[in-house]
Amino acid sequence: MQLPSRDLPFEVPQYSLTGDVLSFQRCGLQYRYYNRSSLPPSRPVQLWTGEFVHGVMEEAFLYWQLHQPSFPWPCTQTPWRGFSTSPNRVDYDLGVLGDQVEARLRASGKTPRNRNARDAAYRRVDAAIRLLAPHLFPLITVVEEKLSSTRPMPAVNAPPGQQPRGDRFELTGIVDVISSVSLAAQQNNPLVQMINSQIPGLSGQFDIIVDYKAARRPPITPPPNSKAYWQHEAWQVQTYAWLRAQQPNTNPVRAGILIYVNELSPSQSDLNDLKREITQDITDIFPASGSPDYYALNTWQSGQSQSLPTFTTDFLLQRAVRIVPVDTAAIDQAVTQIDNVISQIEGCALHENATGNIPNNWNADGGASDCDACDFRRFCPSPAQYRGSGQTPPPPVAPG
Ligand code: SF4
Repeated sequence: MQLPSRDLPFEVPQYSLTGDVLSFQRCGLQYRYYNRSSLPPSRPVQLWTGEFVHGVMEEAFLYWQLHQPSFPWPCTQTPWRGFSTSPNRVDYDLGVLGDQVEARLRASGKTPRNRNARDAAYRRVDAAIRLLAPHLFPLITVVEEKLSSTRPMPAVNAPPGQQPRGDRFELTGIVDVISSVSLAAQQNNPLVQMINSQIPGLSGQFDIIVDYKAARRPPITPPPNSKAYWQHEAWQVQTYAWLRAQQPNTNPVRAGILIYVNELSPSQSDLNDLKREITQDITDIFPASGSPDYYALNTWQSGQSQSLPTFTTDFLLQRAVRIVPVDTAAIDQAVTQIDNVISQIEGCALHENATGNIPNNWNADGGASDCDACDFRRFCPSPAQYRGSGQTPPPPVAPG
């Protein structure tokens, strides 16, 4: 018989850097509804896609580590809501690995929004295995390392009579790790060359952390009605570095690599966004004037019947891979920002607890693209399209 263990005599609220901190930065109210209630989101497209991409990349790496089949790998996707009609798929077919990951996600209530969302996710992991894995997998030394540490609870704007839930909070994250030993051994690897050119003078023993984003590369300056994702994601990586420094016997982290998987197989809307960001001068990676990629992008016209342009692998990798330098000053600034977010979340939760009111106590401040895909836009008090316009959103209408 298993005896119940006694709870800790104090509470340590736990926060995930992606599931909590980045989600709250995206929109406070959406975070409250998705992450702090027991109801799973009805159409968790971003959640499903992100976890699917992470899951397939992890399964692919573990298979490659054991068997090292040469790239590219086949991708024979199981049909939407059907069964595989390809009995001879090899174990490392991305359709087989994808089935395993989809089954795990389904068991926890996570399914793709629709057939297009699922097809896009398979297209992107296929591109990631073809274009990126041959360079990235030989560098990785640890996959899916779990990071966790506690920090003092920051000052919280609590309502009268309410106290923060504890003196400390726990931060968690999961990363892949590259060691400086792998880098030194592979100087001709294009990813190593990108790291060396962007952070010259790296020496000694250090580590680099890797995180995948099932998203496109954000603009370095947020356009109107958007959030500062570029900055938020840098803080996330730098806070991973702080977390890792709290583990015993680890090397200092000198850089993070963010991999924007959507850039390896961009969609029509990704390309429209890229063209707009180039015009507005708010993106850092764009094709050089007169280059084949420049002509591919600028002769392409958006439209249902238009085929997508063909870019060079070099351009796709440059767009997909972002190197974030890490040093003590950057880490200090990042963890201060993360503390601020935790303080805001705790404050919102305490005010909700004191009043019983959700929408009045969590900021409805999602960007335009977040609101477009939000399950709660029909009853949100401040969706992006109405915010600041002086108009109030129409009241929700019951179906039927
Ligand atoms: S509609 Fe927009 S502002 Fe409202 S909850 Fe959703 S993401 Fe947030």
